Formats: sequence, structure tokens, C-alpha cells
Amino acid sequence: MTLTTLPAVDGGPLNDARTQLREAATLLGYDDGLITMLATPRREVTVSIPLRRDDGAVELLIGHRVQHNFSRGPAKGGLRYSPDVTLDEVRALAMWMTWKCALLDVPYGGAKGGVRIDPRNYSRAELERVTRRYTSEISPLIGPERDIPAPDIGTDEDTMAWLMDTYSVQQGHTVLGVTTGKPLSLGGSLGRATATSRGVVHVALAALRSAGIEPAGATAAVQGFGKVGSHAARFLTDAGVRVVAVSDQYGAIGCPTGLDIHALADHVAATGSVVDLPGSDPIPDLLGLDVDLLVPAAVEGVIHAGNAASVRARVIVEGANGPTTPEADVILQAAGQIVVPDILANAGGVIVSYFEWVQANQAYWWSADEVEARLADRMTAAWERVHGHATRLEVPLRTAATCLAVERVAQAHLQRGLYP
Ligand code: GLU
Repeated sequence: MTLTTLPAVDGGPLNDARTQLREAATLLGYDDGLITMLATPRREVTVSIPLRRDDGAVELLIGHRVQHNFSRGPAKGGLRYSPDVTLDEVRALAMWMTWKCALLDVPYGGAKGGVRIDPRNYSRAELERVTRRYTSEISPLIGPERDIPAPDIGTDEDTMAWLMDTYSVQQGHTVLGVTTGKPLSLGGSLGRATATSRGVVHVALAALRSAGIEPAGATAAVQGFGKVGSHAARFLTDAGVRVVAVSDQYGAIGCPTGLDIHALADHVAATGSVVDLPGSDPIPDLLGLDVDLLVPAAVEGVIHAGNAASVRARVIVEGANGPTTPEADVILQAAGQIVVPDILANAGGVIVSYFEWVQANQAYWWSADEVEARLADRMTAAWERVHGHATRLEVPLRTAATCLAVERVAQAHLQRGLYP
């Protein structure tokens, strides 16, 4: 898709995000000017990060922070460390954060950050130096009322502790609300580490039931065994779903009677990978398995025009951001498969990020039960709203979710008016 006043992009997640926006905004009857405004990042910065390696050599890394929209509140979104990071990818991820926050009625706009680095090849001390320099470079843009980073692929609660500390030292006082996904000892929230996965499973169970499939005894495959996939596999198992296959960046494994999730967690802790779990078999094509539920919880663009026809799951719940391309969506829709979109399915993370920020700002901490109950309420209400809207409009869940979200952002933008 080309937008009249935006430079065209050649495929990839930014093209996918723009295509989804264009489709929703056209259904909403928006003109090209408004669509272009909604598609365009409000602010973006690219920074150089000189890193002194442990052996004394100096290497130059590149980082980005994109604030896509802050009409509804401070910008919010994760920070990704990956060798595949590009500015266009960060732009797409920032746009999806805007829609996610709006859909769940979390009072934020959307942002995303990324550093082009493969964290597996760097020591913890090196990653700390990268994080501190990156934070320092973007510090004029961030803050509890400006832009609040959180973990994403390749980053974790330690990254957020370093980020919070660097920002706080520069400000001269401790600012807990500058980031979320922090360790519990530093103003993190109970339930944040598992929030995305909990949310994925809340909507996955609802989606299975809406498709007439009883979760107890249903089969599932989970792609990705990181922060989202590993806990999702566990919570699905707790709900009685038979998780028959999982994968990580090294390979996929399966067991038709269901994987022993606790043995799998021990195996990953010991070996660093799901591969070679005793009692499992290698799986050549996890995405093509004949299961009730597929949870892609790895990276963007894994279900595309070239493989969508081989995906056989009845219900696909997007734990990752942007795993299904618009071309694949059309194929899955025509085959009657249900895709629960990322901006709904994986919103549990940013919901509990919001709870963490509220707690930090109030310096008053909630119990785990309170966090879990509020998360469940928000995810269930959002599922019902999106499902109802999709049924009324006779459109796929993604179109319904994007329409609801884009409308909220557009209303805020139009109500604020233009300055000057
Ligand atoms: N990185 C997560 C996401 O993509 C969480 C973002 C946040 O909590 O700000 O939704």
C-alpha cells in the first residue's frame, strides 16, 4: 500500500501495519489526510552507541526509538535487542503499540525502541553498557509522562533496571515510573513477568470456546519459547489444553500425547533450548500441525502468503507482534480459521505495565490477586468487545480490533484539534 504523502516501503512489518491501518480507516470512512496522520510517527530518533567490549575493542551499534502517537497519553512500548532491528520494523511495532493501548483503553500512545545487536554474543557487562549509553542518548525523549520503555525480544528486567538507574542518576532522583517490567525489588509489579502469557491464554480459551472447541483436551502448538511462549505453554497446560509441540530458534519438538511442560522447563534451564527433550520427537513444520490452537509467539511475518495455506489450526492466537501478514490473513479467513490479532491477544503485557506505572506513581503496591483479577477482567472485556464488533460488522477479528482502536486514537486527535 502507498500513502500519498508517505515514502513507500517495500514489504515487511511496516507495510503490513500500514495495510491493516488503511483497511480499518477506510471502513471508518476516514480521508487520506487523517489516514496519513495516523500512519506517521510523531517522533523518531536514531542514535549511535559506541560500546567498549570486554577485550577493549570499540564497536559502534545503532539504536532507534520511535514514538508513533501520543494523542491519548505518554508513549509506551518495549525495547528490543535483535540483529534484525531496522527503523521500519521499529516504526511498525510502535504503530501496533498505539492500537494495542487504545484497544485496551490504557491511557498511552505507542512507541518502540530497538538496538541492532545479537545479545547472545555479548556479556552481561557489555549489555549493561549498551543499555546505559542507549538510555543516555534517548533520555530527553523518555520519562514517566513522556515515553515509558519495557522489555521486548532480547531484553529483560535487568535491562529495565539499568535503564531506570541511568535515567534516575541523570535526573538526580529515583524515577520508578520511567520504565515498566522492572525487577520486583525496584518497583516492578507482581504478575508482570507472566502477564503477556496470561493474557494470551485468557483470550485463547475464549476463542476456542467461541469456535465450539472445549479447551480441556484441545491440542495446541506454541512457536517460540521465550518470555511469552514458555509461560503460555504452561498456562495452557494448567487449563487442560494438550500442548503437543513447541519450538525455539534452535528447532521444534513434539509429543502427540502432550509435552510434560515441567520437564520441558527443566530441560530448557539445563540446555538453553527445547531441542532434544527426552521423550519428544523433532517436528519439521510446527506451523503446519493439525491442532486446535496455534500460538505464534516469536517474531513478525512467520505466517505469510507462502505458507498460510498449510496452516491447519482452527484458532490462531498471536502471542508475537505481527506474526501474520495481511496476505496470509486473507487465506486464513477464506479457510474459516480464526485469527485473534496481536493487539488484543498479547496486550496483557502492556496492561500490567500500566498497573506497574500506576503503582510506581502512587507508591502503593497491589497484591498478586488484585493484578491477576484486573488483568483477567480487561482481557475478557476486550475479547467480548472485539468479538461482538466483528460479528456485527461481519469482518475478521483483526479488522474489528483495528477499527475500534484507530477510532479511539482518531477521536482523541480530532478532539484535541491542531496547534497552532
Ligand atoms: N513489549 C511488549 C509488547 O509488545 C510490552 C510493552 C509494554 O509493556 O510497554 O506489548
